[in-house]
Parts: sequence; C-alpha cells; structure tokens
Amino acid sequence: MPTIITHSVVAVSAGVSTTFLNRSLKFWILSIVCSSLPDADVIGYHWLYIPSYHFLGHRGFFHSPFFAAILSFLVVSVFYRKEGMFSKQWWKYFLYFFILTASHGILDALTNGGSGIALLSPLTNERYFFPWTPIEVSPLSISRFLSPRGMTVLLSELLWIWIPVLLIAIVVRLKTKRNATA
Ligand SMILES: [Zn+2]
Repeated sequence: MPTIITHSVVAVSAGVSTTFLNRSLKFWILSIVCSSLPDADVIGYHWLYIPSYHFLGHRGFFHSPFFAAILSFLVVSVFYRKEGMFSKQWWKYFLYFFILTASHGILDALTNGGSGIALLSPLTNERYFFPWTPIEVSPLSISRFLSPRGMTVLLSELLWIWIPVLLIAIVVRLKTKRNATA
C-alpha cells in the first residue's frame, strides 16, 4: 500500500481541486477517512488471522470500486441528508467520495509488491496489478516502516503521487481563480 499519509495527501489534493462542493470540516474529515479506510482490512490480517487472499483479506473486497460505491452511498446518505437523495448535488458528493475511495485500490495496484488488488470483487477475488508498478510498496508493520526502507517508500510516493496530485490541485485552483476574476 502507499502509506496512509499519502492517501491523505490525495484526499486533500482532491478536495482542494473540487470547487463545486461545500468544503466544511466534515468534508475534509470524510475525505481523509474515505481515502484511507480500505486499509482497515489489515485489522483482519493482523488480529483475526484472515489470510491475504481471502475475500475479506488485505487488498480484497474493501479495496474494490464496488466497496467504494457502497461506502460513498452510505457517507452521502448519512452526512449529506440535507442535499436530498439523488439530487444533482447529491450525485456530485457521491461521485467525489466514490472516486476518492476507489483511488485507494487503484494506487495500490501501482505498487511493486504485496498481494494484488481485488479490483473486480465481488465478481471475482482475482488479484490484479497494473502492468506498470512504479510505486515502492509500503511495509505493513510500523517498525519496518521506520527503517531506511521506509524512507525509500516515502521518496517513491513523493515522486509518483504527491508531486503529481499537488500539481493538479495547484493548476485547478489557479484556473478557477483566473475564471473567477475574468
Ligand atoms: Zn491499501
């Protein structure tokens, strides 16, 4: 997995780029939770002894776009009740949280280690990587992360994720500002 810090950077960049939603404190907290929540499946791996390749194992169902759609539906239905179910604004929030949650599995599929991602779950538990995997996989244990290996992982995430997503956020903000002042 890329680290939780990196998934949170993706959440903040996505939020900054999204000018058509009400970006309250609730919005930011939900953004960070949605982008990182799929990794809660390590609880099953560490404490419930669920094997990695199980349907509910690490990088299994909870990393799939299908789960992202369920989570987004729940988040918007519970936290954005005022928008009115299936209204235009409701769909905007739904799409935003869906893409953000789904980005987690997509980014994991770009890492160079661990088990693949069950991107088509629940249709199949087959695990996938993209043909190009430039991102160094992050170790699951904190002690191993605090080693020189952890630094290599962070540098790789900085290069392949932080810089591109922050650049996109800056460009979108500048463009929106220019349109507003034009
Ligand atoms: Zn993950």
